[in-house]
Amino acid sequence: MAIAQSVLEIVLDECRRHRMKTVDRINVQVGALAAVVPEALTFCFQVVAQGTPAENAALDIETVPVVMRCPLCGELFEMEDRLDMCPQCGPVVSGLSLISGREMTVMSIEGRGSDDGA
Ligand SMILES: [Zn+2]
Repeated sequence: MAIAQSVLEIVLDECRRHRMKTVDRINVQVGALAAVVPEALTFCFQVVAQGTPAENAALDIETVPVVMRCPLCGELFEMEDRLDMCPQCGPVVSGLSLISGREMTVMSIEGRGSDDGA
C-alpha cells in the first residue's frame, strides 16, 4: 500500500505540472528486491487513486533485476536467487553492495490535458 501511495503522489505531482486532467497510463519500474507483486500494486493503486485524475489509469509495471557489486573483483552482476554469490569469486561473505533493485521509479505518465485540444 505504501508503494501505491508513493506512486500516486508522484503521478499527481506530474499531473499538476503538465495540467493533465486524466491519466491513462503509468509506467513504473520496480526493483526485484522491492518485493512488489504487480497485481497487488495495481489493485492497491486503484484503491488509493479513487477520486483522483489517475483513478482509471493502467499501471504498466516492469521489474528490474537486482544488481550487486562484488567487493573482491569489483564485478557488477545481476542477482538471481542467491544474494551472496559472485559469478567470478563464488560465495562472498560480506561487502557486497546493492547497486539497484530496491527502488521504485515512475518512468513516464501518459494522460490527457485540458489545453491540448484532445
Ligand atoms: Zn567477485
